[in-house]
Amino acid sequence: MKKWVVLLLLAVLIGNSYIQREQEGESAGRAYGEGDRSTITAAEANGGGRAIELTEAQTYGGSLILVNAAHPVREEGVLPDIVALAAHPELIEGYGLLEADTRLSAGVAERFRDMVDAAAEDGVTHFRISSGYRDEAEQRRMYEEKGAEYALPPGRSEHNTGLSLDVGSTLGEMGGLPEGQWLIRHAAEHGFILRYPKDKTEVTGIQYEPWHFRYVGLPHSLIMEENDLALEEYSAFLRKKGIIQSEANGERYEIQAVDVPGHATARVPADAEVELSGDNQGGVVITSRLQ
Ligand SMILES: [Zn+2]
Repeated sequence: MKKWVVLLLLAVLIGNSYIQREQEGESAGRAYGEGDRSTITAAEANGGGRAIELTEAQTYGGSLILVNAAHPVREEGVLPDIVALAAHPELIEGYGLLEADTRLSAGVAERFRDMVDAAAEDGVTHFRISSGYRDEAEQRRMYEEKGAEYALPPGRSEHNTGLSLDVGSTLGEMGGLPEGQWLIRHAAEHGFILRYPKDKTEVTGIQYEPWHFRYVGLPHSLIMEENDLALEEYSAFLRKKGIIQSEANGERYEIQAVDVPGHATARVPADAEVELSGDNQGGVVITSRLQ
């Protein structure tokens, strides 16, 4: 390449990054990574969109938080709508509970019930929840009784958030049964992921658990499935990309990962329906459903 071409390229690159910094300003939310600056965000295409303020507390809660040995659940990570399922007959229609005192987020239980309804239409009907939300004391007891091989320390388990549940079949071991097979094929369509797949044990640090499902919501579950990403990988993928756009179930979405060092401002399309979730790693993921 001729020297002047290289210099010209360099000037363009420096110019671009300078303009970008100018536009973002000091307090503006910075999308992670340099990833996709070629993407025009929906807010930009939309005449600037509207600003939303993000705070550190928001990085700890929501359906996309990463919880594992290195990323404990914070107070904000426990869903505020935890209920005893047996006290809400409308939430347990179509499936059983192994233990009468099973608790879960009411919102997650509703999505699970809808998923069970869809399975019933395919003739798969023997679902049972064997474990839902566990508070710290329960998790501690389990950890002390079963040991580190079988349970995570208190605050390090997804069961401590209300977002996860262990699903069984009343017919026996999940893995080979229609219930297990149906979930592997269809869970993502309903916002759930098999959190600890067989081929991701090195990424998750957890053995294969064909029973443990986690709610992450749409369109995230479908993107993860399509790209074969565990939650650890999806989180890193969003951080690297900064912004992605996707289509799921006929809807268009824009997903932005924003670093929130204490406080940040992000821009979203003015007319988009927006959902926020922390990633439990210092960032917030903004999911905008585009009109
Ligand atoms: Zn579990």
